[in-house]
Amino acid sequence: MSVAPKSVADRLGRPEILALPPVDIAGAPVAGTIRLDANENPYAALVQGQSALNRYPEPQPPDLTRRMADLYGVNPASLWVTRGSDDAIDLLNRAFCTAGRDTVAIVEPCFAAYAQFARIQGARVAATRLTDDFAFDADAIRRFADAERPKLLFLCTPNNPTGTRIAGDAIEGLANALPDTLVVVDEAYGEFDEAPSLAARTGAIPNLVVLRTLSKAYGLAGARIGCAIGAPDVIALLAKVSPPYPLPQPSIEAALTALGPERMPAHAERIRLILAERTRIAAALADVAEIRSIREGGNFLFLEVDAPEALAKRLATAAVRVRFRPNAAPGGVRVTIGLPTENDALLAVFGVPSALASRRAEIVRDTKETRIVVAVDLDRAEPRKIDSGIPFYDHMLDQVASHGGFGLTLACAGDLGIDAHHSIEDIAIALGQALKQALGDKRGIGRFGFALPMDETSAEVLIDLSGRPFAKFDGTFDSENVGGLPTQMVPHIFRSIADSLGAAIHVRVSGDNDHHKVEACFKAFGRALRQGLAIEGRGDILPSTKGML
Ligand code: PMP
Repeated sequence: MSVAPKSVADRLGRPEILALPPVDIAGAPVAGTIRLDANENPYAALVQGQSALNRYPEPQPPDLTRRMADLYGVNPASLWVTRGSDDAIDLLNRAFCTAGRDTVAIVEPCFAAYAQFARIQGARVAATRLTDDFAFDADAIRRFADAERPKLLFLCTPNNPTGTRIAGDAIEGLANALPDTLVVVDEAYGEFDEAPSLAARTGAIPNLVVLRTLSKAYGLAGARIGCAIGAPDVIALLAKVSPPYPLPQPSIEAALTALGPERMPAHAERIRLILAERTRIAAALADVAEIRSIREGGNFLFLEVDAPEALAKRLATAAVRVRFRPNAAPGGVRVTIGLPTENDALLAVFGVPSALASRRAEIVRDTKETRIVVAVDLDRAEPRKIDSGIPFYDHMLDQVASHGGFGLTLACAGDLGIDAHHSIEDIAIALGQALKQALGDKRGIGRFGFALPMDETSAEVLIDLSGRPFAKFDGTFDSENVGGLPTQMVPHIFRSIADSLGAAIHVRVSGDNDHHKVEACFKAFGRALRQGLAIEGRGDILPSTKGML
């Protein structure tokens, strides 16, 4: 009779954890049952909008596990949702390292939590270093691991704080060569790197674990949500050392909201912006004499400077905080990429003047009927990524952005099954809000705009970005719908934008073909906007004799 080979968890897990019975907790709520099983308070929490907080959350909410598994391209059984990836590092140490006996291997300079949690667990920490040039030498790491025989080997790519990338092949080679070590790959900054994730490889390599987090690319550091991805037996062992209800309910909800499909284009656009800023700041610092080297990685830069103490004083005076990393390199400084204005404050500390005038805005608008994220960039004609749920409306909004000469990222998840009305109207409101916010104090803009196009149809749109909402629509349509867009919504769209943008918008349209007429309105609106939004001549002049708009 053949005996099934032992799983990685059975071979490498702490024997007392393997023997531990699962924790006995109250089950998840079932509709129609009376919950007297968890010693909760029966009264709703006195927190507006969060009344269900009196109940314990699900230990691992299936919808969040599914969403994250989908995001990382793995099976839900391979993923354990944690309180940030910090928590995953802790769980791995507790599940696999016996105090006073086992070893955790790290490659310095690296994220401090690997050694910290190992020491808390009582594991021995064996450290080696990246090369002098902060490169990853897989052969050297292999020799180091062969000598140390660690239970856990932590690798981070791109690495915090050096930005070092580790090739996927090198990591797979190490995992295959070290069957008695769990190779843990921390991909906290993976979204900021073009290298493919190793998450899906955990299916084929049983001693590979990948850590991901929503703290960085998805902007949820405060929610504390991350995950460990690995073979199901490894995940089951992590579950055993996890506290009974590890994830706070507001964090579960925040994660599900932030990972909504309608949010993904905005996340992608933010990542692109952060990377563009990383490039801009690295280039702007390139000629600064006191900076000896600049490395880019993740959402940060790693600098080596000549006189860190003097720099620290100047940063303190400017109230700019960065992380000094003397253990990584004598003048090592890690700088997170912030908002463009924040990055400019950093540049100023190095004596580099700002070249920036950002007119970008992002609006998140969630109601029971629609969930919308809109980003506009008035000074860049790209990107134009529009998903309203109504293809013809997408086309019309694309006309507005393209003729308006501004970047527009817009996605809406709306109740189209009921009617298109809510989506159409709410998108118009959110677009107007985004334009208004991006215009800021309106210094330098053209303010007024007009246009007169096309074929047998003529459309005229006059705009005054005055701050005072007013909408006038002069025109009629014979058809009820054009391309799935109810024509009665067309005047309503302009009114909604006028209200939320704070603009007078006058539309006049006449012609024979309703498709032409609708399209001409949007095109002309875009053209009129282009003139109204454009910075003219001196950018500091307010086009109003009142001194405000
Ligand atoms: N891994 C790395 C490499 C990090 O830099 C960080 C945070 N700085 C984390 C993990 C932890 O992130 P979180 O717990 O927020 O997921």
